[in-house]
Amino acid sequence: MKHDLKKILRELSEIYDEKSKNTYISVYVNKQGDNAFLEKRIHACQSLLKRDEQDNFIASMETIQDFLKKNRGTNLAIFASEAHNFFRSVPLSVDIYDALIVDSSPYIRPLARILDEWTPFTLVILNSNQAKIFSVDLGETEQEKQLSSNIMNKHKKGGWSQARFQRLRKGAIQTFYSQVKDYLDTHADEQIILAGPGPEKIRFKDMLPKHLQQRIVDVIDVDMDDEHTLLKESFDRLHEQEDTLSHQAVQQLKEEILKDGLAVYGLDETLQAVKRGQVDILLIEKDYKVKGCLCEHCQILKAGPVKDCPVCGGPVTEADVIEEIIEFAQRTDAKLEFTDDEELSKLGHIGGILRYKDQ
Ligand SMILES: [Zn+2]
Repeated sequence: MKHDLKKILRELSEIYDEKSKNTYISVYVNKQGDNAFLEKRIHACQSLLKRDEQDNFIASMETIQDFLKKNRGTNLAIFASEAHNFFRSVPLSVDIYDALIVDSSPYIRPLARILDEWTPFTLVILNSNQAKIFSVDLGETEQEKQLSSNIMNKHKKGGWSQARFQRLRKGAIQTFYSQVKDYLDTHADEQIILAGPGPEKIRFKDMLPKHLQQRIVDVIDVDMDDEHTLLKESFDRLHEQEDTLSHQAVQQLKEEILKDGLAVYGLDETLQAVKRGQVDILLIEKDYKVKGCLCEHCQILKAGPVKDCPVCGGPVTEADVIEEIIEFAQRTDAKLEFTDDEELSKLGHIGGILRYKDQ
């Protein structure tokens, strides 16, 4: 089941209640958990909502719980609003934390983190006459293709001179590699991991064009049939790589700040830049949270308590500032990096590498 999480996030980030009412319910349910957390949260939220919000909450929760009953045993993210006639469910193969959030827009932070941490990739395991290609999305593996070279069956060897045999064998391997290359060219994810026993995988890599070589993020030595080890190792390496990428992004941010280049840091600067669509990479400390206020009418967001909207004078609602920043970032196609890097916390827990800068 391959779904485009990036697209789903983008869609969800564009949805909000124009009157800033708490009409969107977001529920994250881990398949391992019991429903006790849900009952508790439902009870708490229901008693805190205003009358019209309450009606919407009760109706939306009914739909959500019906859906949950029919879909036990799956990790799920569900977004619903009866008032807006909206329902969206996203099955997830990776573990999530239970949560129920009532807000004026879908709560997407957990999904954004999953997208950052579980980059889809293509896994190729090959030797000189066999290749298996897997696509791995959100930790779920699907075999996509099996390719093999049939020219070099051992029994054909009889009667040929050693030199002729070697020549034909070489040609057959070249043809086979080029088949695998063509498949990758048209089907592979942005990131590719190459695996297999012995030196063949390196020879294969060497014959690939540059644009494909650059997409190979790791090479793993493993037997053709040991898929279990291979998958485990692939995930380990990718998570390491994700850490490295986050760290590199923080380093890049620091360098840009030093030369007063394409960077912003700290809550206010980053918020303004994200809203203007200037941010290319948004860096957020993993568990950073800030309370603030939002006017959905003007999309004005301020950290801390504010009484009225400074632009239209209208009412504001309490908001999770980081969640709002993430939503702005998704709407403007910024890439998100969640990180534990201490240097980011020194810079105000949040920052952005910019696409451009006003003079
Ligand atoms: Zn306003």
